[in-house]
Amino acid sequence: MLKRKFLSVFALYALLLPGFAFAQTASSTGSATATVAAPAQYQASKEVIDRIKEEGSKNSQVMQTLSYLTDVIGGRLTNSPAMKRGNEWTRDTMTKWGLQNAKLEAWGPFGRGWSLKSFSAQIVSPQAFPIIAYPKAWSPSTKGVVTSEVVHLDVKEDADFAKYKGKLKDKIVMISAIRPLAELKDPLSVRHTDADLAKMVTDGEAAFQRQQQQSQTLRPQQAAQPQAQQQMSPEQTGRLKSLMMRLKSANFLLEEGAAVIVDNSAIGSGGTLFVSSASVAQEVPANPLEIFNRRNSLSAYQKEAEAKMLPQITMATEDYNRLARMLKQGEKLKMSIDIQAQYHDEDLMGYNTTAEIVGTDPKLKDEIVMLGGHMDSWHSSTGATDNAAGVSVAMEAVRILQTLGLKPRRTIRVGLWSGEEQGLHGSRNYVKQQFGEMVAPVAAPGTTPARAELVKKPAYEKLSAYYNLDNGTGKIRGVYQQGNAAVAPIFKAWLEPFKDMGATTLTIANTGGTDHLAFDAIGLPGFQFIQDEVEYDTRTHHSNQDNFDRIQAEDMKQAATIMAAFVYQTAMMEEKIPRKTMR
Ligand SMILES: [Zn+2]
Repeated sequence: MLKRKFLSVFALYALLLPGFAFAQTASSTGSATATVAAPAQYQASKEVIDRIKEEGSKNSQVMQTLSYLTDVIGGRLTNSPAMKRGNEWTRDTMTKWGLQNAKLEAWGPFGRGWSLKSFSAQIVSPQAFPIIAYPKAWSPSTKGVVTSEVVHLDVKEDADFAKYKGKLKDKIVMISAIRPLAELKDPLSVRHTDADLAKMVTDGEAAFQRQQQQSQTLRPQQAAQPQAQQQMSPEQTGRLKSLMMRLKSANFLLEEGAAVIVDNSAIGSGGTLFVSSASVAQEVPANPLEIFNRRNSLSAYQKEAEAKMLPQITMATEDYNRLARMLKQGEKLKMSIDIQAQYHDEDLMGYNTTAEIVGTDPKLKDEIVMLGGHMDSWHSSTGATDNAAGVSVAMEAVRILQTLGLKPRRTIRVGLWSGEEQGLHGSRNYVKQQFGEMVAPVAAPGTTPARAELVKKPAYEKLSAYYNLDNGTGKIRGVYQQGNAAVAPIFKAWLEPFKDMGATTLTIANTGGTDHLAFDAIGLPGFQFIQDEVEYDTRTHHSNQDNFDRIQAEDMKQAATIMAAFVYQTAMMEEKIPRKTMR
């Protein structure tokens, strides 16, 4: 899933800038105001559900699929050669299983690929020791092995830069503060208790009611930007200031000609580090709020960003803190770093993999039920929980249905997305190409933008629903209804046979951060399952420990079985899954 930090930055931006238009707001403005009458309930026979369960538990291939994706193909950064290999391997594997129309579907252009050719990092003086670190994605290479003095840049105010001026050329520069690590009192792995699940239902209902009331009492103009005029909290002000200082530091280090930038993993401990994209030295805006305006900024995967980036790595916190403390004690540290990375500019397009079980009902086979997850990952491990898990489960769900020879009335199509980690690009582009998009007229400066309008493609009326899995290894505990009240009786009946497997909960709540939003944004039913967290936030996703060994096989089998049953029953209904009404 897309990092929460990343999302919160956008939430902050949406909060602060009047007139900010972001595709995701379509999901909130598109919330249900009324729902159509519930369609006739369809439920597969006990015999069919039992066969799905049996195939999913006794003959499961899910861990074999997962091992190939993670162990053999490895980390799958968007547009890297490994990502492409993942696209081709999943296409070929599903073809082998008997699925039809398995193919790569291009979107984009996205930007350049990046792969690591070699990397090493160690302290060499006054004593030698290795450190745990990883280059940031799309980091430039060092000029051979760099062996240089380590400097800790400590800038809190603009005036602080003066003492470093002219002193950082070819130096290895640490830019983060020491991050104290508290005693680990909470377990690394958690699962939802009955009380958690009950709270999810009541909180979801309360939030839904609030939103309903708000949408009825606000005039359309206000509803479009209900919080635009709110004040920043001290915490937000502080965060904005530290982001500005980071940006100024990036520019300063580029001008000074530092050799490598080192930052401290923002979360995690015990040698686990969390690393994503390299930072680009963007122009420092006069208005600090403009820092969030990505329309004016470069992403690390754009070719033009290369000249505005220094080689950069993220270090595990125990190692980072030690180096910072040694420098404070007056030690002179020398470090040796080698980053050799390759950019891939041959093909800037991104690719999703899709495949189908073609429907058999002459009246309904042109209609589609989709399921999927994103195949791209970050690069410091093998993207097992984020999100080879979702890919393997979605593939296993269609393998189960294909193997059992169940003849779905509608066509079942699996979509394995790329570019999710950079902003749900693969699924958003797919939805735009296939089903439609929200188009907002460009507003003149200083004026309120007009409401975005839905522009539909013919297939808009053909999609019944999309089911996504992207919250790690944890088994399915239920479904987020995404504000769609009319699906409750349908999903309730479909969860019934999986009670004994722990899946019981329906919440009207929305959940964010992943590819079902691409569908939801244009009013198509898109759902993410509720999953147990396990170690998702504490240890695995976006970390150097997102590997096969952190995956729980029984959870994967359970999830694939439930996903297969949901997809199959959606394909067999007389009518499509009811939709929310777009306001
Ligand atoms: Zn993610």
